[in-house]
Amino acid sequence: MKPRILQAGRLLPALEQRLAADYDLHRLSDEADPDAFLARHGGDFTGLVTSAGGAGAPTALIAALPQLRVIASFGVGLDKIDLAAARERGIAVGYTPDVLNDCVADTAFALLLDVARRTSEADRFVRAGRWAAGQAFGLGRKVSGARLGIVGLGRIGQTIARRAGGFDMDVRYHSRRPVAGVPWPHEPALRELARWADYLVIITAGGEETRHLIDTAVLDALGPRGFLINVARGSVIDEAALVRALVERRIAGAGLDVFEREPQVPAELLALDNVVLLPHIASGTEETRQAMAQRVLDNLAAFFAEGRLVSAAA
Ligand code: NDP
Repeated sequence: MKPRILQAGRLLPALEQRLAADYDLHRLSDEADPDAFLARHGGDFTGLVTSAGGAGAPTALIAALPQLRVIASFGVGLDKIDLAAARERGIAVGYTPDVLNDCVADTAFALLLDVARRTSEADRFVRAGRWAAGQAFGLGRKVSGARLGIVGLGRIGQTIARRAGGFDMDVRYHSRRPVAGVPWPHEPALRELARWADYLVIITAGGEETRHLIDTAVLDALGPRGFLINVARGSVIDEAALVRALVERRIAGAGLDVFEREPQVPAELLALDNVVLLPHIASGTEETRQAMAQRVLDNLAAFFAEGRLVSAAA
């Protein structure tokens, strides 16, 4: 008998097809009344497949699946998974680290270059016929050789730091502990890093521990010549404070892939030209999403065959 797996939220269609071929897959979203369905059938499922940027595995869902043995999450963020509840019940949690490092780092640079060199704004300028009408477009800011502060030097943060070498940037980073064996200086005080940096890239983990790490004090340390890039989680930034800092031009600009209440983006930001806004697509290439899907399948296959995961979340 194939293991019964519950799918929470949307997944890549190709991944759904593979899952449906290998397992007895049931989509929770097909249910008109998911709570009633879980109350009746929650005990049938030994596996849960979900996504880091989507449904996650919240406390109530884990509690509604009393026979659950494995959670396979598409993505690397663990902030939407109740890890403590999973640990308490001995439920294995698989995720997809590393395979997305390149694309998330590339997106950080896409945002950084865009907001500094004003490429999206310049594109709007051309399309609006303003170039053809003889208007002049303003100047951007230089990226090559500038100071890059990275908040969170994990797998993705280190990939961003290596990219910065190609731009001859001066790199420093902040995290709770210095990382051994890297060439970039650790800055123990986040505000000092913000004060020093021309560009501050946020790539820490999400969740309660980093909630509103970037607050008014950090934004004011970054200052009117500094740019903020966020490819981590919306919760890491006090979004109301960021909106105020941008509207009042207390920082130079921002490139944002993630927001506190996705898919809602604060209306004030839509009106600003010094902000680049993306719909949470940092890992969103065909190649990377396919590699993430394969890791989900590999995690489940290894778990049901040998009781282990290829990539287990701590
Ligand atoms: P890692 O676990 O490898 O790195 C996380 C880093 O965050 C570590 O350097 C850690 O260092 C640091 N960190 C954690 N808590 C704090 C804190 N309180 N203050 C300062 N630094 C902290 O994760 P990855 O690099 O693989 O991924 C990072 C995050 O990126 C993910 O958790 C995910 O949320 C996000 N992400 C976003 C994507 C998107 O689509 N926009 C796609 C993929 C990932 P230390 O513990 O020493 O503090």
